[in-house]
Amino acid sequence: MCSAFNVPFLDLTGLHAEIEEDLVAVLKRALKTSEFIGGPEVEEFEHEFARFCDVDYCVGVSSGTDALRFALVAAGVAPGDVVVTVPNTFIATAEAISQAGALPHFVDIDSSTYNLDIRKLKNYLENECIPDGRRGRLTDKRTGRDVTAIVPVHLYGQPADMDAILELARLHDLVVIEDACQAHGAEYFSQKEDRWKKAGSMGTAAAFSFYPGKNLGACGEGGAVTTNDPDLAKKVRMLRDHGQAKKYYHEMEGYNGRLDAIQAGLLRVKLRHLSDWNEKRREAARRYNNLLEVASEAIIPPHVPSWARAVYHLYVVRVPERDLVRELLQARGVGTGIHYPIPLHLQKAYGWLGHRQGDFPVAERVANEVLSLPMYPQLSLDQQQYVADKVLESLTARTRVSIGN
Ligand SMILES: *Cc1c(COP(=O)(O)O)cnc(C)c1O
Repeated sequence: MCSAFNVPFLDLTGLHAEIEEDLVAVLKRALKTSEFIGGPEVEEFEHEFARFCDVDYCVGVSSGTDALRFALVAAGVAPGDVVVTVPNTFIATAEAISQAGALPHFVDIDSSTYNLDIRKLKNYLENECIPDGRRGRLTDKRTGRDVTAIVPVHLYGQPADMDAILELARLHDLVVIEDACQAHGAEYFSQKEDRWKKAGSMGTAAAFSFYPGKNLGACGEGGAVTTNDPDLAKKVRMLRDHGQAKKYYHEMEGYNGRLDAIQAGLLRVKLRHLSDWNEKRREAARRYNNLLEVASEAIIPPHVPSWARAVYHLYVVRVPERDLVRELLQARGVGTGIHYPIPLHLQKAYGWLGHRQGDFPVAERVANEVLSLPMYPQLSLDQQQYVADKVLESLTARTRVSIGN
């Protein structure tokens, strides 16, 4: 293998080349019909994606961020409410909460799955909140606000521990909106129901993103809300379209948040390949696990509990001196990412929440060590071998550097 070998972090071009004819046919059809907003492509996609997620309803919207915001509003989260989520996610999770008028409340993550820590969630709900029996609501003791929803994030394509989350939500009468923006096709084994369940089918509603780099990505922006609740689906349909149930009859103020027909058509083409692509990602993850096993002292691979079938939106390892390893990899032609370098509670944008370093120690530690390796269905064995070799080399080089030359 020559040293000019290069493995990009993400390769959408290769993926699109495989299905180019079908994608181009969608564009040609759209130009011929001139149906750009709404219409059969959007409706068909919604049916097909609902079936894929094992839910009754899917409503296409313009992004994952809108999907989250609309789902929260449609589920009844009101201005001033507190909504619980994690600090180690893409900012959109918290933006959707505060833009729905609510206050994000962060709960730290589990150190092996990087998803919501159930014990800490339970502790918050039971010790930092009190039930207001008269109104049948749970109140945050510190702020005096109503706690009304939980937004678990299925981070990196791995489901959060939904049985436990749903049970706590049931006990405290909270809405659960899954952030499934990285988890198209992921599955969770529900002990309670004794069966595997699809991400997006477990909460009151769920939000998906079709940002190009996601497991199911548009060639532009897109998102969807999934739910089994017909009223919630109906509300999201109105919210995405200026609050109208019928053209120019506005029942409420809404947004311009629709999924357009070209993106829906392209997504229909890609959806046919999604299960196969997810399986290829799983195979690639198994290969990385094997290739990197020799360095198990220095590298922590992704931990997937027996109740999860992850879809590896990202393949994330933890290494000490991550930034140095990343630089060395970059120099050898291996693209990597960091998801995410600064937890939300320490972002400037959330300074107003008044958090400090040390408030969420697990999220903070993980943020300093996570490294996302190249991961996509078209990733070849040669490419993975190269990445693994360079990771192992970087670890050795890192030791040399830190010993002091
Ligand atoms: C991508 C993403 C979003 C937002 O989706 P957009 O389509 O970019 O608006 C929200 N949450 C998570 C966890 C994401 O990865």
